[in-house]
Amino acid sequence: MTGVAPAAIALVPRMVPETGDLTTNALAFLRNHLDMDMAFLSEIKGHQMELRAVDAPGFEHLASVGDLLDLDDVYCLHILEGRLPELIRDTNDIPLCQTIAITSRVNVRAHVSVPIWRTDQSVFGMFCILGRAPRLSLNNRDLEVVKAFAALVADDVNVTLDGEEQTIAKRRTITQILETGGFDISLQPIQCLRDQTIAGYEALCRFNPVPYRPPNVWFQDAADVGLQLQLELDVIERAFALLPDLPGDCYLSVNTSAGTLASGRIASLVPDRDGRNIIMEITEHAAIEDLDVLLMEIDRLRDMGVRIAIDDAGAGYSGLQQIIRLRPDVIKLDMSLTQNVDQDVARRSLASAMVKFAADTKAKVVAEGIETEAERQTLRRIGVELGQGYHLGRPTPAREVLKTLKSA
Ligand code: C2E
Ligand code: MG
Ligand code: MG
Repeated sequence: MTGVAPAAIALVPRMVPETGDLTTNALAFLRNHLDMDMAFLSEIKGHQMELRAVDAPGFEHLASVGDLLDLDDVYCLHILEGRLPELIRDTNDIPLCQTIAITSRVNVRAHVSVPIWRTDQSVFGMFCILGRAPRLSLNNRDLEVVKAFAALVADDVNVTLDGEEQTIAKRRTITQILETGGFDISLQPIQCLRDQTIAGYEALCRFNPVPYRPPNVWFQDAADVGLQLQLELDVIERAFALLPDLPGDCYLSVNTSAGTLASGRIASLVPDRDGRNIIMEITEHAAIEDLDVLLMEIDRLRDMGVRIAIDDAGAGYSGLQQIIRLRPDVIKLDMSLTQNVDQDVARRSLASAMVKFAADTKAKVVAEGIETEAERQTLRRIGVELGQGYHLGRPTPAREVLKTLKSA
């Protein structure tokens, strides 16, 4: 075993992964297989090691989960730094073992211990099986078996720790975005398909960090670390700030998750509590948790003139049930339904059905993702009133749109 510099040990993150069944089962299997008394997985934390998983039937008073041991009192460092071998048949044969506190405290006679490596080649801790009687039959094949199990456990530990590190990194990035306002708003026009006038704009968030990632990915990251509400509210506030500079006959369509809508915090952001040119698009593709609270908030916003849209209708959870339950003022047909609508009778038929449903429920239909003139013509013929898509206008930074509007 090659020596490992203490610096590598210092790299060990001070995080506590859950040790799952794999580790527990591996410890029990190896302890039985080697006919030993105790087995444990330890994590090295500074100058101590903590027992993270233990299999020691009858010896729980000597080793249990959470026990903290000083590294000077155990074999770990000596093994990592090459002063002790990974496999010891009888500690009585090795003078160094007699100077280490655990030898007499637990009466260690046989000892097999291998490191658990992190993906960055630092040491997480040790995988250790020990016996209170010598085991002269222990051989290299036993050591190889222990190493094989240790590698499996290391994979498990690394998956957990890598996940935790990613979460910490995500949280750091999103917090930074929140603190620095690290995003901008783009506007994409929503056109009246009949006369090509602009009925409104959808506010689409663009995050500053490079490389570019779509906004829904950022919002998902924020949700993963519990910051979705804060981020969405900050974006909504920034979008609402554009309202005074938009033509009076144009509405602003702003995305929100159902959860942020249900939080009740959007109403206070509506300028002058007048939401007649605001549409809130429920964008989320997840099931709605508390429908009653959501409906209450929707009513409160509607009292201020805000209209409600179902985004991406026809995709994922934005299905028919949601449309029926939320009684939207606007139904935004997902682009999976509008793309190639001119060539596909099934899409045409569904779009027509939506138009009929919208007319009956006094809602408007916006077709998203119109990319060709043929799609636009077809949707218009079917009776879709409004459209959005690259063919009609790309999302453009809000300040450029406002500049163009001012100079027009
Ligand atoms: P969405 O609300 O359905 O927005 C429409 C998306 O389709 C936008 O992508 C837009 O750039 C894109 N798009 C528009 N026309 C076309 C087209 O003709 N073809 C194609 N292929 N795509 C088109 P974007 O901006 O990347 O946004 C993706 C999603 O991120 C949005 O989908 C929405 O779910 C979410 N999102 C964006 N901004 C916000 C925001 O401020 N708040 C929240 N909660 N979600 C947002
Ligand atoms: Mg949208
Ligand atoms: Mg959409």
